[in-house]
Amino acid sequence: MFDFKIHSPEEEVKLPLLKEHDVRLFIKRDDLIHPFISGNKWRKLKYNLEEAYKLNKKHLVSFGGAYSNHILALACAGAKFGFSTTGFIRGDHVSNEMLTMCEIFGMHLTFVDREIYKDKIKLYNQFFQLNNDSYFIDEGGAGKPAEIGCREIIKELNKYYNYIFCAAGTGTTAAGIINELSNQNLQTKVNIVSVLKGYNLLSADINQLLETSYNYTVLHDYHFGGYAKTKPELIELIKYFASHTGILTDPVYTGKTLFAILDQVKTGAIEAGSNILMIHTGGVFGILGMLDKFK
Ligand SMILES: *Cc1c(COP(=O)(O)O)cnc(C)c1O
Repeated sequence: MFDFKIHSPEEEVKLPLLKEHDVRLFIKRDDLIHPFISGNKWRKLKYNLEEAYKLNKKHLVSFGGAYSNHILALACAGAKFGFSTTGFIRGDHVSNEMLTMCEIFGMHLTFVDREIYKDKIKLYNQFFQLNNDSYFIDEGGAGKPAEIGCREIIKELNKYYNYIFCAAGTGTTAAGIINELSNQNLQTKVNIVSVLKGYNLLSADINQLLETSYNYTVLHDYHFGGYAKTKPELIELIKYFASHTGILTDPVYTGKTLFAILDQVKTGAIEAGSNILMIHTGGVFGILGMLDKFK
């Protein structure tokens, strides 16, 4: 129903470092799915939208920060598929490019105090409990329908990879990837790059969504200070990669994933002859919140 024909090729990139170490790097271009309904946010919304449609809901309600890729994706997807949308935005009333784009797509924005924001169900009920048309979607689109949608990343692959690298916030995308690799009995080594600082519960969160056990690794050393934090070497890498491949990564998620891959290649953690796949989870507009760092 809400499936539209998506374009997400596996594209090889060539860099001297890769050649030196005799490894090949491919990028699963989920950033090309749609300019606004981008990357894993489409994967995570798809089955939520189907559910809302089946239940005859007309209004989608979700939650996010002031630069949330999920909120932007929801605003555009709502417009595309005929739902009205409300975004609860964490913190004081602000105005930025991302939120303005959400409003252009017709989303209604409500800013909420950080304390009140924490209890999303309560917040939803307060505004929408009596509204039968409304449908709750958790922050970032997290949950089982989202995990199922992310399995399709692996279902689409045309090639076998020795390694897959993917960024994780909640770990929902990671769980979908791992579940599908396991379903297909693949031996791919999975490296999940945590973008949060010292969030040791990430693997527990992922495991909760797994249907069978699977050996995977969480890399905790590529957060660059924590969520939405960055360092000059990360900014330099994003610029280098963009200017040598034409592929933009963002400082919050995919830039950190890319850094992890090249670092693991450099340190010899990846054997010569390996094929590596990076999942480009989209969200390139995340860069808008940090443009001053690139000047
Ligand atoms: C939201 C987001 C993620 C994190 O996905 P989870 O399923 O929460 O782990 C990764 N990359 C990008 C670009 C995102 O926008």
